[in-house]
Amino acid sequence: GKFVFMFDDRKTSTKEILGGKGANLGEMTRIGLPVPYGFTISTDACKSYYESGKEIIASIRTQIEESLQILEERTGKKLGDPSNPLLVSVRSGSVFSMPGMMDTVLNLGLNDETVEGIAQLTANPRFAYDSYRRFIQMFSDVVLGVDAFFFEQHLEKYHEQHNYSSDPQLTAEDWKKIIGAYKAIVKKHSKKAFPDDPREQLFLAIQAVFDSWNNQRAIIYRRLNKIPDHLGTAVNIQSMVFGNMGDDSGTGVAFTRDPSTGKRELYGEYLINAQGEDVVAGIRTPNPISTLQEKMPEVYKQFVQTCQRLEKHYKDMQDIEFTVERGQLYILQTRTGKRTAEAAIRIAVEMVTEGIINKRDAILRVDPDQLNQLLHRRIDDTYERRLLVKGLPASPGAATGQVVFDADEAEYLSKEGKKVILVRPETTPDDIHGIIASEAVVTSRGGMTSHAAVVARGMGKACICGCEGIKINTKNREFRVGEIVVNYLDTITIDGATGDIMLGEVPMIEPTLSKEFQQLLLWADEERELGVRANADNPEDAQKSREFGAEGIGLCRTEHMFMDPERIPIVQEMILADSYDGRMKALVQLLPMQKQDFIGILEGMQGYPVTIRLLDPPLHEFLPDKEELIVQVTKLQLIRGNGEELKKKEALLRKVQQLEEFNPMLGHRGCRLGIIYPEIYTMQVKAIFYAAAHLTDKGLNVQPEIMIPLVGHVNELKQMRQLVVDTAVEVMEETGKKLKYTVGTMIELPRAALTADDIAMEADFFSFGTNDLTQTTFGFSRDDAEGKFLQSYVEHNILPDNPFSVLDQNGVGKLVEMGVKLGRGTNPTIKTGICGEHGGEKSSIEFCYRTGLDYVSCSPFRVPLARLAGAQATI
Ligand code: ADP
Ligand code: MG
Ligand code: MG
Repeated sequence: GKFVFMFDDRKTSTKEILGGKGANLGEMTRIGLPVPYGFTISTDACKSYYESGKEIIASIRTQIEESLQILEERTGKKLGDPSNPLLVSVRSGSVFSMPGMMDTVLNLGLNDETVEGIAQLTANPRFAYDSYRRFIQMFSDVVLGVDAFFFEQHLEKYHEQHNYSSDPQLTAEDWKKIIGAYKAIVKKHSKKAFPDDPREQLFLAIQAVFDSWNNQRAIIYRRLNKIPDHLGTAVNIQSMVFGNMGDDSGTGVAFTRDPSTGKRELYGEYLINAQGEDVVAGIRTPNPISTLQEKMPEVYKQFVQTCQRLEKHYKDMQDIEFTVERGQLYILQTRTGKRTAEAAIRIAVEMVTEGIINKRDAILRVDPDQLNQLLHRRIDDTYERRLLVKGLPASPGAATGQVVFDADEAEYLSKEGKKVILVRPETTPDDIHGIIASEAVVTSRGGMTSHAAVVARGMGKACICGCEGIKINTKNREFRVGEIVVNYLDTITIDGATGDIMLGEVPMIEPTLSKEFQQLLLWADEERELGVRANADNPEDAQKSREFGAEGIGLCRTEHMFMDPERIPIVQEMILADSYDGRMKALVQLLPMQKQDFIGILEGMQGYPVTIRLLDPPLHEFLPDKEELIVQVTKLQLIRGNGEELKKKEALLRKVQQLEEFNPMLGHRGCRLGIIYPEIYTMQVKAIFYAAAHLTDKGLNVQPEIMIPLVGHVNELKQMRQLVVDTAVEVMEETGKKLKYTVGTMIELPRAALTADDIAMEADFFSFGTNDLTQTTFGFSRDDAEGKFLQSYVEHNILPDNPFSVLDQNGVGKLVEMGVKLGRGTNPTIKTGICGEHGGEKSSIEFCYRTGLDYVSCSPFRVPLARLAGAQATI
C-alpha cells in the first residue's frame, strides 16, 4: 500500500489517512497558498508501526526515502549536504486535533557540518547556531528523553555568568559554546552521543512522533474528548522556514474570528524574530496581531487575505499558524478553531447571514453538549471582582460554597443540604464521592490534566487546579493566602473559567438566551420533528421551560408538593393514621393545596399538555430519619413532664420502623401505593380535575395527562385507570364542566416493556422513565453504583459511559424500542415520550428520534439543548 503522500499528491486528502494537519497542509498547497513543501506519512504507517512491534517496516522506509528525494529536488537542497543543507520539521498530526498533546521537532538535519553551511548561506552565523541549539534541545527532549529542564538550567546559568538578561543578547560565539555544553548534557543523561547523521535523526524523530501517540497526556486528552485510541497519528515532514532570521522575520498564531465571543475580527498574537514554539511557550510576551499592520504592512495585508480565503474555503472559523521569513509569509497550519459555546453560536448564525453556510449547516455546527456553558448561572459581568487568589482554570463554571477539606465531610455536609467546595492539596480516586457532593473543587497542586481537573470536567463541575498561592493545612482545617486565613465552612466563590477565587458570595446572573442563540433555535425548530417538553414540578420551572421553548411538561412530579414544610405535618398525619377515616381527614386538608399547585402549573403552560405523575416514592420518605427519632425519643424519656411529646414521637418511631424497607427502590411505591391506599390517588386526581375545571372556567384550554407510575402488570393500570375515570365523572358532574384528559403510564420496569402490548390497551400514552428503567434493567441501584463502581466501569471500558447519563441503547434502549413497537401494535394512536434524564442528552435524543418517540422531556435548562439535538437528529 501507499503510506507516504507529497503535499501536492492528489490521490488522497482524507483526514483519516493524513491526519488533520497533513490533510490541510496538502489542501492549502493545492489551492496555491505559500506552504513550505513536504510530505505526510499516513496514520496507517503508525498502525503498522505498532503492529510490527514498534518498527518502521522496510517498505515504508523506502517510501519515505523516495518522498525525501522529491522534497530535495523541489527545494534544491539535500538532507545532510553541508554546501546546501535541507532542514525539516517532523510534525505529528492526528485525525482529531490534539493541540500540544503530541510531539514536534524543528530544524532537523543540523549537525556540526551543516550548521556551518547554513551560517555561510545565510551570512548569519548567529541564526545558524541559535537554530542548532534549539534543535538539540527539542530533539533530545522529544526523541532521547532528556528533559528540557537540563538545557534551560544551563542556559540560565550562562545568562547569569555573562550578565545577559535575554536571549537576543547572545552572540554566535555564545551559542556555539552552549551547543558544546548541550551535547555534553545529552551524553550524560542519555549515555549516548547526540546523533550526527541527519537520516538517523529523521527516522528517530518519526518513531518518536509515533510513540508520542501513547504518551500520558495524549491518552488523557483522548479519553476526555472520547477520541478512539486506535486511530494513530500521521507524521508530516516539511522543509523549514525561519521566523528567527532577524527583525524582518517572525512567527504567530491567529484565529479568523474571536474564539471566545465569536466576533468577526482577526484575533491572534505574534513574535518578531522567533521560532514557532516561542509563542506558546510563553517565554516572551507576544504582540497582538493588529500591531503587525504597522510593523509589516505588506505581510499583514497578505495575511488578512489568506485568512479570508481559508475561511471561505473551509467555511468555518480557522486557527492559523504562520511564519514570516525575511518579509515572506508562510502558512504552516490551519484547522477549525476551537471556540466557546457563545462563539460557536454567533459564528454559525453570522455565517448564515454572510452567505457562507446554510441554516442546516449552522444547526450542525454547534455541539449541544457545549450549551451547558451558557445555561448555568454565572458571575455577573458587571461585578468588579476582588480576587483572593488565582489558580489554573481547569473546568469552567461559577460556584459558591462553604470550604471543606475532606471528601467524606463534603459528602456528609451536602447530604445535609449544604453547598460545599472541596479544597485539597490534590485529589485521588478515593475522593470521588466528595467531588460528586461538592459544588466545585480547588487544588493547590497539579495541572490541567490532574485527577481533580479530569474528573471535574467529566462531571461538568467547576474546578481550579494548581492554585499554588494557597497553603492548605488540612489538620487545622484552614488555608492561607499570605496573611489571610480561610477557615472550614467559610464561604468562597470560584470561577473555573478564569481560575479566580473570591471570598464570600458574589452576584450571579441567571442565564438568558442571546439573540443569536434564539435565532439558531428557531431554525432548529423548523427542522425538528421530535417534540421537546420539560420536567417541571412547580410554576417557576414551568415558566422557565416555556421561556426556553418547551412544548409542554413531560413529567410533573407530585411528591415535591408533599415535601413543602407547611404540608409535611399533614402528610405525616395522613401516614400515621391507622384508618381510612383518619387518612381522609388529612387528605381533605391537602386537596385544596394540591389544587392550587396544579392551577399554577397548568396555567403556566398555557394550554400545552402537562403530564402529571401521581405519588411515586415510598411513604417513609416523608417521615423523619429513624436514627434521629431514636435520639429524640431517648432524650424525651429522660425528661419528665413531657409525656405528650414523647407519645407522639414514639408513635412516629413505630410507624417509621413499620414502614422501613429492605430495598425501597423495589418496595411499596408507585402505583402500589395507589392500589393499597386508593384514597391518596383519588385526592390527587380530584385536585387535578378541580384545577382543570377552574381554568376551563377562565377560558383556558387545559390538557392534563394523568400518569400512573411503576406499572409492571396491566391489571395495575386497569384498576388505576378506573379510579381516574370514576373521579373524572364525579368532578364533571359536580362542576358541570366537560374536561379533556388522558391516562397513561410510565414504562420503567422491564416487565412493563415486555408486556407493552397488554398495557397499551389501557393507556393513552407511554412515558419511558429511563432512570428507573436503567436501574431495573441493569440491576444497579443508582446511588450505590455511581458512588462505588460505575466510574471504574467506565475507566476500564466495561461500559462505554455512565448509563444514567447516556442511554444504554443496546440494553435499556432495546426495551424502549420493544415498548414502542408492542404498544403501537395494540394501540396505534398511543403517544410516546421519554422523561428520564436521558431526554436531555445528545446521543439519547438521537436514539429517541430514530425509535420514533413523539417527544423527549428534560430539565428546563436542557430544553434548548434538546431543541438543537432534536433538529440535528432529523438532518
Ligand atoms: P502542534 O501540533 O503542537 O501545534 P506543530 O507541528 O504545529 O505542533 O508545530 C509547532 C510549531 O512549530 C508551528 O506552529 C510552527 O510555528 C513551527 N513549525 C512547524 N513546522 C515548521 C516549519 N516547517 N517551518 C517553520 N516552523 C515550523
Ligand atoms: Mg500547530
Ligand atoms: Mg420512576
